[in-house]
Amino acid sequence: MKSIAEEIIIKGISASPGICIGKAYRVDREGVEIVEKYKIQAKDLSNEVKRFKAAVKKSRDELLGILEKSPEELQHAHILETHLALLKDKMLYGRCIETIKQENINAEWALKTVISNLREVFQTMIDPYLKERSADVVQVADNIMRNLTGAKQVNIAAIKKRVILVAQDLSPAETCQINLERVKGFITDRGGKASHTGIIARSLEIPAVVGLKEATSTIRNDDLIIVDGNSGIVILRPTENTLLQYEERKIDYEEYKAVITRDSKAPAESLDGVRLSVMGNIELPEEVFALLNYGGDGIGLYRTEFQYFNRTDFPGEDELFDKYKDVVEVMHPKPVTIRTLDINGDKALTNQFNYEETNPALGLRAIRYCLKKPQVFKDQLRAILRAATFGNVRILFPMISTYFEIREATRMLDQAAESLEKNGLPYNRDIEIGAMIEVPSAVIMADVLAENVDFFSIGTNDLIQYSLAIDRGNEQVAHLFQPLDPAIIRMLKHVADVAREKEIKIFMCGEMAGTPHHVPLLLGIGMDELSMNPQSIPDIKRVIRSLNVADTRSFLKEVLTQTTAKSTFELIKATYGSILSEQMYSEGRKK
Ligand code: PEP
Ligand code: MG
Repeated sequence: MKSIAEEIIIKGISASPGICIGKAYRVDREGVEIVEKYKIQAKDLSNEVKRFKAAVKKSRDELLGILEKSPEELQHAHILETHLALLKDKMLYGRCIETIKQENINAEWALKTVISNLREVFQTMIDPYLKERSADVVQVADNIMRNLTGAKQVNIAAIKKRVILVAQDLSPAETCQINLERVKGFITDRGGKASHTGIIARSLEIPAVVGLKEATSTIRNDDLIIVDGNSGIVILRPTENTLLQYEERKIDYEEYKAVITRDSKAPAESLDGVRLSVMGNIELPEEVFALLNYGGDGIGLYRTEFQYFNRTDFPGEDELFDKYKDVVEVMHPKPVTIRTLDINGDKALTNQFNYEETNPALGLRAIRYCLKKPQVFKDQLRAILRAATFGNVRILFPMISTYFEIREATRMLDQAAESLEKNGLPYNRDIEIGAMIEVPSAVIMADVLAENVDFFSIGTNDLIQYSLAIDRGNEQVAHLFQPLDPAIIRMLKHVADVAREKEIKIFMCGEMAGTPHHVPLLLGIGMDELSMNPQSIPDIKRVIRSLNVADTRSFLKEVLTQTTAKSTFELIKATYGSILSEQMYSEGRKK
C-alpha cells in the first residue's frame, strides 16, 4: 500500500477490466465473524444437530429463491447449483454434524472448526484454480453461519444508490443479485482471477478488483474510490488531479472498447480478402456467453479438466455429457473444440492423494494419463461423441509426443463409438480429430501425425516450455519464456508447412495467438484459426482486418533471418507498430 498525500493506492488483482469512480458501499456480514464456543449437554445434542440442519435448509431455500429470480442469460445458475450441492457435501455437512456430536459443542463452533480444517487442506493444493475453489466452500459456510447466528442477510438487490461494493468477499449468489443500474463495480479483500466471483464480474462486464487484503479495513461507507480493473488497483480519496486523470482514462477506455467491440461480431478478413476464424478458449461452460459477446467464431479450446477438480471422485459419462451438450447447443452451428483431459503437470487432481512426481511437467500428464486410465478416458470419449449429435464438435488430444499416442487415442475413440452403438445410444463419430502440437517430438513427426488427424492445434504455452526448457510457471525464468524466439518461429513454420502439404488445417490455441503483435507473423505463417482468451478476440480481429496477408508472407522471410527474440520484436515494431495497439510498447518495455 502506497500513500500519496491524502490519497491511498491499494494494489490487488484485476478480476474484470474497466474503470469506475464512485462512492463505496460496504457489504458487511455482522455476526458471522465473531463466534463463541460452548458445550452442549448430551441430552441436547440432537436439538443442536436439528438447529444446524434448519440453518442449512434455510440457506438452501434462499439459494433456490435466488436461482429462480436469476436472469437466464447470465447463466450463473450452475455456480449456484455447486453451492447447493456443497450445502449437503460430506466434507462440510457430514463433518459438522459429526463434530457437534463427538465434541459436544455448539453448531457455530463446529462449523468454524470444520471450515478452518478444510481451508488448510485447500491451501496445500498445488493447483491455483483448486485453491480458489476453497472460496466457494467458505461462502457456503458463511451463509449457514448467518442463518445459525440470525445475522441479517446482505441484500444487494435492495441497494438504492449508484455505488461500488466493498466486501471481504462476495459469493456468486450475492454477485448474481447485482443490479447493473445501481452497482458500478466491486472490490474484495479475498479472491483471485479464477474465482467464480471474478468470472461473474467479467460476464456482467463491470470493473472488479479482488485480493486487495485490506480494502475493508481501510475504506469506509461513502468514501470516494476509483476502481481500475485494468491494472488491478483501487484509489481511495483520490486527489483532484488523479480524479481528472481517471475520468479521462475512463472515457478513453470506453471509447476504445466501443470501437473494438462494435465490429467484433463481423468476420476477421484481411485487406486482401483472407478470412481467419478467431475463436475463444474456455475453462468453464459459463464463459460461453462472454465469448459470443466478444464475437468469437467458435471455441478453439475447451479445457475440460476443470470439471475434474475440486472433488473426490471422477465425473461420470452422463455428467460430462450434460455439460458438453449445453456448450455445444449454445454454440451451434459454431465449432466447439473439446480437448480431452489434460491433467497433472501443473494441474494435479485432488483425488490422487498419493500422487507425487519429481518432475510433473515430464510426467504422467494429459494423453499419457488417459491412456493409462482407460476407464476415465472412455467415459469422456463417450460423453463427447454423444454431445456431438447436438452441434459442431471437434475432438483435440493434448500433449501428443509420439505416433503411438495418436493411434491409441483414435482407436479408443472408435471403441467408444462401438460401445455406444451396442448400447443403442445416439452418437456422432463423424467429427474432426486434432492433435495438439506442444512437444518438440510432435513437431519433428508432424508429417506422420498429419496422416492420422484432420487438424493440428499448436499449444505454444507448452511448446515454448518443452522446447526452450523453461518451466512455464516459474517466475525466475519467466523472462526467457519468449514466443518470438527464432527456434519457436521456425517450429511454427515447419508445422504449418507440413499441414498445408498434407492438406490438414492448422490452428493455434496457446497464449501467443491472443497477442496483437504476433498476428502479422502468424498470418505470414499461414494459420487458419487463432484461439484465445475471449476478451482478446475484438482486438485480434481488428489487427487482422488492417493487415495484408501477402505482405505478411514476405515479412515472414525477413523474420526468419533474425537470430534473437528481441530483434524479431524490434522488426515487428518497425514494420507494424503503427497499426498495433499500445500494449505492444508495454510488452516491449518488459523485454
Ligand atoms: C498450450 O499449452 O499452449 C495450451 C493451449 O494448453 P494449456 O495451456 O492448457 O496447457
Ligand atoms: Mg498445453
